[in-house]
Order: sequence, then structure tokens, then C-alpha cells
Amino acid sequence: MRFGLISDIHANLVALETVLDDMGPVDQYWCLGDIVGYGAQPNECVETLLDLDHVAIIGNHDAASIGKASPRSFNGEARRAIEWTARQLTKENTNYLKSLPETMEHNQVLLVHGSPRDPVWEYITNQEQAQEAFNDTETPYIFVGHTHVPIVFVRDSQGKIFDGVPEDGMALRLGAERVLLNPGSVGQPRDGDPRAAYAVVDSDKLMVEFHRVEYDIEEAQRRMKSSGASEWLTTRLAHGR
Ligand code: ZN
Repeated sequence: MRFGLISDIHANLVALETVLDDMGPVDQYWCLGDIVGYGAQPNECVETLLDLDHVAIIGNHDAASIGKASPRSFNGEARRAIEWTARQLTKENTNYLKSLPETMEHNQVLLVHGSPRDPVWEYITNQEQAQEAFNDTETPYIFVGHTHVPIVFVRDSQGKIFDGVPEDGMALRLGAERVLLNPGSVGQPRDGDPRAAYAVVDSDKLMVEFHRVEYDIEEAQRRMKSSGASEWLTTRLAHGR
């Protein structure tokens, strides 16, 4: 079976549609949270997912947009985007976001937005945090989002951790070693590469493949501008920061 791994869509429908098109058919989509927040089309992104066979977990922006977390934990720009998003979301889409769990286990994989011990909020950016995440769960593979930066951590049988940045087209074997990975962000990359990021898991070959794809950033920016998004949030899409 093939699973499409998408995270941090952030209401960027232009990027989401491009990623789905580039990925081609998969058996199921796994979404690692932050479907909404920042971008111009929160309802359309939720509805696109609802049309697909998918599972999803909740992210911090999703939680804040439906009143499950206080917008006050966000900086000014993010908070304004969350308040705008909360006003846009239909009742049905709000209820869908409310139904999302914080973690999910699937075929030896733990899906979580942040980290196993702090599923909605904690960022995993370095080897120490990855080691703690491995210690906090027995599930062999951990797939996270939240940082918007693609990264892979591998823990060998001695407990030693290695990390690497997955380039476009890179494939990683899911073998005996434990793996923690972040596919990067569909709708708001922050690793300096503005292309949308995603990954595909092949459970028969036990491989994960990482991808980047160019999308029409100017169109996404036009939609943000007409929704009243700030200049700063709009321009950062082009920089991938
Ligand atoms: Zn996010």
C-alpha cells in the first residue's frame, strides 16, 4: 500500500492541489496537522481532505482555530490569522477539526503533529529532542510535522542517533532501525526552499520517498491578499521562511 504523507497545509489550497496532483494515486493520505491557519482557504482545504480517503491528527493552529487552544499562545501575526480563520470556518468544518485526535497509530507508525509527549506543541529540531521522542514511545516509527522543515532522525540498535535533510527524490528504508521523520510543509515551507514538501510511504517496499514540487506561489499570494492577510505572511511564502 502507498500512503501520501502531508503536513502543515496551512489553508494553502494552491499548494495542496499541486501536491496531490504531483503525488499521483495513493491508497490513503496521512495528514500530520495544521490543515488551517495563515492561508486564504481553510474551508476549501478541509473539504479537499474530506473528499479523500485520509486520516488526520490535530495541529496547534487547528486547535486554536476551533477554540481548543488559546490564540494568545501565538505571536501577533499568527494570532490574527487564527482569529480570521475561526471566523471563516463553517460549522461542519469546525466540527471536523474538533473530531481530530492528537495522536494516531497506524502500521507501526505514530502520527503526531509535535512530539509523543506533547502532541500539539513541542518542536523536534535536534538529536536530543529526537532521542527523547524515541524514549517516550515504543512505536518504531514516528512521523511528525509542526517545524515546517523536512528532516530524518534514525536511531540504530546501539541507541545512536543520526540525522539528515531529505532532498527531493531521496528514499529512506524503514528497516530495523527506528525512524523519526518530518516530511516538511505543504503550504508554508520554512527551510529556505519555497517548494511544497510531501512524502510517500510504500508499506510493501518499506520505503519512504521525499518530494518537493513547485507551485503557483503568486496565485496563493493573490488569494491571501484578497482575504486581507498581512504583507509579512504573504511575502514569506516566496522565501520559504
Ligand atoms: Zn504549522
